[in-house]
Order: sequence, then C-alpha cells, then structure tokens
Amino acid sequence: MDWTTLSIAGLREQLRGGAVSARQVAEEQLARIEERDNRIRAYLAVSPKRALAQADTIDRRVQAKQPLPPLAGVPMAVKDVIVTRGVAGTAGSRILENYRPPYDATAVARLEQAGAVILGKTNCDEFAMGSSTENSAYFPTRNPHDPERVPGGSSGGSAAAVADGLAVASLGSDTGGSIRQPASFCGVVGLMGSYGRVSRYGLIAFASSLDHIGPFARTVRDAAAVLQVIAGRDPLDSTSADVPVPDYLAELDRPVEGLRVGVPQEYFGAGLDSEVRAQVEKGIERFRELGCEVREVSLPHTDYAIACYYLIATAEASSNLARYDGVRYAFRAPETTALEEMYRRTRRAGFGAEVKRRIMLGTYALSAGYYEAYYLKAQKVRTLIYQDFVRAFQDVDAIVSPTSPTPAFKLGEKTEDPLQMYLADIYTVTGSLAGVPGISVPCGKTRAGLPVGLQLFARHFDEARLLQLAHAFEEAAGFTL
Ligand code: GLN
Repeated sequence: MDWTTLSIAGLREQLRGGAVSARQVAEEQLARIEERDNRIRAYLAVSPKRALAQADTIDRRVQAKQPLPPLAGVPMAVKDVIVTRGVAGTAGSRILENYRPPYDATAVARLEQAGAVILGKTNCDEFAMGSSTENSAYFPTRNPHDPERVPGGSSGGSAAAVADGLAVASLGSDTGGSIRQPASFCGVVGLMGSYGRVSRYGLIAFASSLDHIGPFARTVRDAAAVLQVIAGRDPLDSTSADVPVPDYLAELDRPVEGLRVGVPQEYFGAGLDSEVRAQVEKGIERFRELGCEVREVSLPHTDYAIACYYLIATAEASSNLARYDGVRYAFRAPETTALEEMYRRTRRAGFGAEVKRRIMLGTYALSAGYYEAYYLKAQKVRTLIYQDFVRAFQDVDAIVSPTSPTPAFKLGEKTEDPLQMYLADIYTVTGSLAGVPGISVPCGKTRAGLPVGLQLFARHFDEARLLQLAHAFEEAAGFTL
C-alpha cells in the first residue's frame, strides 16, 4: 500500500484504524523525496526532524485514543516565501540565503495545530516574481509531466511536489496567479481564497495588496480541507478578514444544478492556445451537463489588467523590498566600509535580474511626477476591474475560463523575453486585482500529454460556492482519487 497516495480524509481513517502510523507515512514520504526529487527538484530544504517529531505527536494521540485533528499526519510542503521557525526561508533569493526565521507563519502554525506534518520548503521564483520558477536563485524546478518543461510559477516547487507524489498537499502564494498557473501546468488543484481570507502573517511580502497564501492538493476536497484550517481572522494580520468561515467540506457535495456559470468572451480571444481552448470548452460543456446554466458575461477592462497589475505589483514590491539593506538581517556584502556602498553592493549581489527589474519599474512608477500618471492611474483601473467582477456576479454565480493561455512551456523559452512571460498572466491577474477567490482544476490534457487547467472565480468570500462547483466539475470529469 502506498500511503502517500491517499486523500487527506482517507489517510486520517487509516491512521485512526491503526493500519499505518504517522511516522511510517512521514518516513515513506521523506524516502521518496530523497529518492526522486533529484529529477524535478521541487524542494529547497527538507526538515525531517521537524516532520518526524510531529508524526510522533500524532501517533501518541492515536495510541491514547484521542480525537484526531483534521489534517492528522498529512505530509505537506511549504513554499519558501512562507516562514517556518528555524528552517531556511530564502524566498528563492540569495539575499535571504542564511536567514533562519525565528517564527512560524500563521498558516503554518495552523497546519501543525491541525496535525499536518511539514516536510520542508519548496522552490519558487525569487520573491515570488515570475511564472516559471526559473527566477529562483538556486535552480529551476522541472515539470513532472515533462522534465524539459517548467512547472509554472512562482509556486512551481509546491505544485510539482504534489504532482510528483512528494507531498500530499502544499502551500503556495498567489499574487497574480502563482498558485493557479503552476497548478494548471502540473495537473493539480490550486486554490486562492478571497483577499484577506488567509492570514499573510509570515508570508515574505511581494505586493501586499495582492498577496495570498493558499493550498495545492490532488483533489478539490483536499484543497477545501486545507483552506478550512488556514482560513480566518488573525490578529497578527490587520488585513485578514473578520468574515465567518463556513464548513467547506459540508457544502462540497451540494448539487450544482441551476447555478449560473459565466463565460467571459474576453478570455477566449487571440493568444489562447487551440488545444487549451478545446479542453476548456469541453469543460464548460460539463457544467451544462451538470445542469448549470452557462451564460456569456463581459469583463470589459480585461485588456488593461496586465499593465495595471505590473504597475501596482512592482510599486508595492519596490517598497516592500527596501528592507533588504544588509543592516537588519540576512545577507550583507562583505568588506564594505561606507554605508551607502554597503547598501549598493548588498542589493547588487543579493537580488537577481528579475527582482532588480521590478524594483526599478516600481520605483519609477512611484516617483514624483510619474506617480499620478502610472501608480494612481493603475489604482483607478484596478477599481474598474473590480467593478467588472461585481457586475458580472449580479448575473452569474461563478466565472469559468482557462487558467493560462498555454500549457507548460520549455525551460528557457521565455527567459529572454520578460514581456512574453508577463502577458501570459492575463487570465489570473484580473481576479487578483479584484480580490475574488479563484481555483484551477485539471480539465484535460494536450495531445503531448501536458495538463490543462480550468479556472473558476466566485464572489468575494464565496469560496464555498467555488469549491462546490470545482468539486462537481472534477467528479464529472473523472479526476477524483
Ligand atoms: N507571474 C506573476 C508575476 O510574475 C504572478 C506572480 C505571483 O502570483 N506571485 O508577478
């Protein structure tokens, strides 16, 4: 029996019944990482001690016949932008190479309280800036479906780990698509809650008004189980929302008949790969078969979303990344004497090319004389995009689209052309700017065997509806465990 292929609920049952111990599951999972991860390199750091200690805690509870928490014994990986006490937290950057965070992110603390076994930290684009994990300062991660191709990004390691059986579920972060897009490239489920649904405490900031933490899992049910644990108000993050968290698992199996699903015509135009289009259109057909009413909707400001996102995200990044100055913590360029020289040399050596590009773009957008023309204008456009969604959701309960215009591309294919890389974020950044929840679920494969993801958006804080529809879809499409 391969215990690590079980669903979260299945694993808990087996633990409770005594068929396997949490330690056995953790050891099996760690052994598989050891044996297989040199192929795709999903992990930056593995923390066996912490994992096994947690597994033993769970086993003691089983022996004492105490009730098991919802994620008991579930082996999970955490993207390296989310801090874990005492375990390297590099954010994929040289500038944080030797940083050992002194605390746990709220999401990680909640996972452990719920019984999850944290295996280690996964690779990502530096400071979550990218769409391919090639911007990691350490090494690229590869796509388990075709190692010549990228796993997507920026949470590529977290997506690839779940896809390759190197974790049962994982955490990623999503600012403009970094959970949903790698989920679609790797053929797993990736969920971004509404902005504020999950505490950002302990998430190394990229663009604070857009950053989210969320799960990757093999099924919608597993993703819902993880969201259940990490969602909810946290006094340590003032932007975490004080909105009650419903019982997602209880809502999951409700029939979807009669729900209205909107198809935004702006998401099916030029630039959409024909095989992706065909798979997603087949997916939309399934909603009809499930008894949903499929309607056309319009999100008329979609064309401005990339420009808007890349102004706001870079502006916030330039401000957030000012803290890496060699003074307080992490890397400092050696042998400098003057303060300004130390700043310059630290940041020149510590940051990679994409991060520098974004700091420059963002600083420019915020500087005197340009602020009104760029940053302020982008904020106004963001409001228009938000209103597009609010208006569409008067007519429909969810919006369906491709997650990404193409399947996974080859390593190196887009690294010389950052603009091409940015443009491919078109279907994901819109929902991020609007703050609505989004999910990517597997919906088929290309002729070459590459996974295609279908994206759903729902109203603000209506993750229950989002998960319900995604779950019905995956069952109809035959993608459940
Ligand atoms: N690909 C987008 C970017 O490069 C999104 C990244 C993210 O969501 N962290 O900014």
